[in-house]
Amino acid sequence: MAHSVPDLPYDYAALEPHVDEQTMRTHHDKHHQAYVDKANAALEGTEWADKDPAEVLKNLDALPEDKRGPVRNNLGGHFNHSLFWPTMSPDGGGEPTGPIAEAINGKFGSFDDFKEKFNAAGVARFGSGWVWLVHDGSGVDITTTPNQDTPLADGHTPLLGNDVWEHAYYLKYQNKRPDYLAAWWNVVNWDVVNERLGAVS
Ligand code: MN
Repeated sequence: MAHSVPDLPYDYAALEPHVDEQTMRTHHDKHHQAYVDKANAALEGTEWADKDPAEVLKNLDALPEDKRGPVRNNLGGHFNHSLFWPTMSPDGGGEPTGPIAEAINGKFGSFDDFKEKFNAAGVARFGSGWVWLVHDGSGVDITTTPNQDTPLADGHTPLLGNDVWEHAYYLKYQNKRPDYLAAWWNVVNWDVVNERLGAVS
Protein backbone atom coordinates (compact mmCIF):
# COMPACT_ATOMS: atom_id res chain seq x y z
CA MET A 1 0.00 0.00 0.00
CA ALA A 2 1.28 3.42 -0.88
CA HIS A 3 2.36 5.77 1.87
CA SER A 4 -0.01 8.53 2.97
CA VAL A 5 0.10 11.66 5.10
CA PRO A 6 -1.17 10.91 8.62
CA ASP A 7 -3.94 13.13 9.97
CA LEU A 8 -2.90 15.79 12.45
CA PRO A 9 -3.76 14.71 16.00
CA TYR A 10 -5.15 18.23 16.66
CA ASP A 11 -6.73 21.12 14.75
CA TYR A 12 -4.64 23.24 12.37
CA ALA A 13 -5.05 26.25 14.66
CA ALA A 14 -4.45 24.31 17.89
CA LEU A 15 -0.82 25.31 18.25
CA GLU A 16 -1.49 29.04 17.97
CA PRO A 17 0.11 31.41 18.74
CA HIS A 18 3.41 29.48 18.73
CA VAL A 19 2.86 27.74 15.40
CA ASP A 20 0.30 29.52 13.24
CA GLU A 21 -2.64 27.95 11.43
CA GLN A 22 -1.57 28.94 7.92
CA THR A 23 1.87 27.41 8.42
CA MET A 24 0.31 24.20 9.71
CA ARG A 25 -2.07 23.99 6.74
CA THR A 26 0.65 24.52 4.16
CA HIS A 27 3.24 22.44 5.98
CA HIS A 28 1.01 19.42 6.59
CA ASP A 29 -1.27 19.48 3.54
CA LYS A 30 1.19 20.68 0.88
CA HIS A 31 4.79 20.05 1.93
CA HIS A 32 4.27 16.69 3.63
CA GLN A 33 1.92 15.59 0.83
CA ALA A 34 4.57 16.41 -1.75
CA TYR A 35 7.14 14.23 0.05
CA VAL A 36 4.65 11.38 0.16
CA ASP A 37 3.71 11.71 -3.51
CA LYS A 38 7.35 11.77 -4.62
CA ALA A 39 8.32 8.90 -2.32
CA ASN A 40 5.46 6.79 -3.68
CA ALA A 41 6.47 7.63 -7.24
CA ALA A 42 10.08 6.65 -6.57
CA LEU A 43 9.16 3.36 -4.86
CA GLU A 44 6.24 2.30 -7.06
CA GLY A 45 6.64 -1.22 -8.38
CA THR A 46 9.72 -1.96 -6.28
CA GLU A 47 10.10 -4.40 -3.40
CA TRP A 48 10.58 -1.42 -1.07
CA ALA A 49 7.17 0.18 -1.75
CA ASP A 50 5.42 -1.61 1.13
CA LYS A 51 8.26 -1.62 3.61
CA ASP A 52 8.37 0.36 6.83
CA PRO A 53 9.98 3.72 5.93
CA ALA A 54 12.38 3.43 8.88
CA GLU A 55 13.72 0.12 7.57
CA VAL A 56 14.19 1.52 4.06
CA LEU A 57 15.92 4.65 5.38
CA LYS A 58 18.31 2.61 7.54
CA ASN A 59 19.36 0.67 4.46
CA LEU A 60 19.50 3.22 1.65
CA ASP A 61 22.55 1.49 0.18
CA ALA A 62 20.36 -1.50 -0.65
CA LEU A 63 18.36 0.59 -3.11
CA PRO A 64 19.23 0.92 -6.79
CA GLU A 65 21.51 3.91 -7.22
CA ASP A 66 18.98 5.98 -9.14
CA LYS A 67 16.42 5.58 -6.33
CA ARG A 68 18.67 6.54 -3.43
CA GLY A 69 18.48 10.33 -3.83
CA PRO A 70 14.70 10.58 -4.33
CA VAL A 71 14.02 8.12 -1.49
CA ARG A 72 16.48 9.74 0.89
CA ASN A 73 14.85 13.13 0.30
CA ASN A 74 11.19 12.22 0.01
CA LEU A 75 10.73 9.11 2.13
CA GLY A 76 13.02 10.91 4.58
CA GLY A 77 10.67 13.89 4.45
CA HIS A 78 7.68 11.60 5.04
CA PHE A 79 9.40 9.91 8.00
CA ASN A 80 10.59 13.15 9.61
CA HIS A 81 7.24 14.90 9.31
CA SER A 82 5.31 11.84 10.53
CA LEU A 83 7.41 12.04 13.69
CA PHE A 84 7.05 15.81 13.89
CA TRP A 85 3.25 16.24 14.09
CA PRO A 86 2.69 14.14 17.21
CA THR A 87 5.78 15.70 18.82
CA MET A 88 3.61 18.80 19.20
CA SER A 89 0.40 19.24 21.16
CA PRO A 90 -1.83 22.11 22.32
CA ASP A 91 -1.43 20.52 25.77
CA GLY A 92 2.36 20.41 25.42
CA GLY A 93 5.11 22.60 26.72
CA GLY A 94 6.51 22.99 30.17
CA GLU A 95 9.32 20.97 31.65
CA PRO A 96 9.77 17.31 30.74
CA THR A 97 8.98 14.71 33.37
CA GLY A 98 9.83 11.05 33.86
CA PRO A 99 12.67 9.17 32.15
CA ILE A 100 13.30 11.82 29.48
CA ALA A 101 13.78 14.46 32.18
CA GLU A 102 16.32 12.21 33.92
CA ALA A 103 18.13 11.53 30.64
CA ILE A 104 18.26 15.24 29.73
CA ASN A 105 19.41 16.33 33.16
CA GLY A 106 22.02 13.56 33.26
CA LYS A 107 23.47 14.54 29.89
CA PHE A 108 23.10 18.31 29.83
CA GLY A 109 22.87 19.29 33.50
CA SER A 110 19.46 20.93 33.33
CA PHE A 111 16.50 21.42 31.02
CA ASP A 112 17.51 25.05 30.45
CA ASP A 113 21.04 24.04 29.45
CA PHE A 114 19.61 21.41 27.11
CA LYS A 115 17.25 23.89 25.46
CA GLU A 116 20.05 26.37 24.99
CA LYS A 117 22.25 23.78 23.25
CA PHE A 118 19.37 22.44 21.14
CA ASN A 119 18.36 25.94 20.01
CA ALA A 120 21.97 26.85 19.23
CA ALA A 121 22.34 23.68 17.13
CA GLY A 122 19.11 24.54 15.30
CA VAL A 123 20.31 28.05 14.56
CA ALA A 124 23.69 26.74 13.39
CA ARG A 125 22.16 24.25 10.92
CA PHE A 126 22.95 26.12 7.69
CA GLY A 127 20.12 26.15 5.16
CA SER A 128 17.39 23.53 5.55
CA GLY A 129 17.32 20.65 7.96
CA TRP A 130 16.40 19.36 11.38
CA VAL A 131 17.69 19.57 14.92
CA TRP A 132 17.25 16.45 17.00
CA LEU A 133 17.38 14.91 20.42
CA VAL A 134 18.36 11.35 19.63
CA HIS A 135 19.28 8.18 21.48
CA ASP A 136 22.64 7.13 20.06
CA GLY A 137 22.72 3.67 21.58
CA SER A 138 24.37 4.70 24.81
CA GLY A 139 22.30 7.76 25.77
CA VAL A 140 20.67 10.94 24.56
CA ASP A 141 22.44 13.57 22.49
CA ILE A 142 21.76 16.56 20.23
CA THR A 143 22.39 16.24 16.50
CA THR A 144 21.33 17.97 13.30
CA THR A 145 20.69 16.66 9.81
CA PRO A 146 20.65 18.53 6.50
CA ASN A 147 17.62 18.56 4.19
CA GLN A 148 15.42 15.52 4.92
CA ASP A 149 18.19 13.23 6.10
CA THR A 150 17.10 11.24 9.14
CA PRO A 151 18.97 10.30 12.32
CA LEU A 152 18.28 6.69 11.34
CA ALA A 153 20.97 6.86 8.68
CA ASP A 154 23.51 7.50 11.48
CA GLY A 155 22.18 4.61 13.56
CA HIS A 156 20.40 6.99 15.94
CA THR A 157 16.83 6.82 17.21
CA PRO A 158 15.05 10.20 16.95
CA LEU A 159 13.21 11.16 20.15
CA LEU A 160 12.40 14.80 19.44
CA GLY A 161 13.03 16.84 16.30
CA ASN A 162 12.35 20.37 15.22
CA ASP A 163 12.01 21.30 11.57
CA VAL A 164 14.24 24.29 10.77
CA TRP A 165 13.30 24.53 7.09
CA GLU A 166 12.01 28.04 6.39
CA HIS A 167 8.64 26.52 5.42
CA ALA A 168 8.20 25.58 9.11
CA TYR A 169 8.35 29.14 10.41
CA TYR A 170 8.73 31.82 7.74
CA LEU A 171 5.08 32.97 7.53
CA LYS A 172 5.04 33.91 11.22
CA TYR A 173 8.69 34.38 12.15
CA GLN A 174 10.21 35.44 8.80
CA ASN A 175 14.01 35.27 9.12
CA LYS A 176 13.92 34.94 12.92
CA ARG A 177 14.65 31.24 13.30
CA PRO A 178 15.84 31.71 16.90
CA ASP A 179 12.42 33.12 17.86
CA TYR A 180 10.68 30.10 16.34
CA LEU A 181 13.04 27.69 18.11
CA ALA A 182 12.40 29.44 21.43
CA ALA A 183 8.60 29.48 21.02
CA TRP A 184 8.40 25.85 19.89
CA TRP A 185 9.07 24.51 23.40
CA ASN A 186 5.57 25.71 24.33
CA VAL A 187 4.04 22.93 22.23
CA VAL A 188 6.42 19.99 22.79
CA ASN A 189 4.56 16.82 23.76
CA TRP A 190 6.80 15.22 26.36
CA ASP A 191 4.52 12.21 26.76
CA VAL A 192 5.31 11.16 23.20
CA VAL A 193 9.03 11.76 23.74
CA ASN A 194 8.90 9.55 26.84
CA GLU A 195 7.15 6.84 24.83
CA ARG A 196 9.88 6.94 22.19
CA LEU A 197 12.60 6.76 24.84
CA GLY A 198 10.80 3.83 26.46
CA ALA A 199 10.81 1.97 23.15
CA VAL A 200 14.62 2.35 22.92
CA SER A 201 15.65 1.35 26.40
MN1 MN B 1 8.88 20.58 7.00
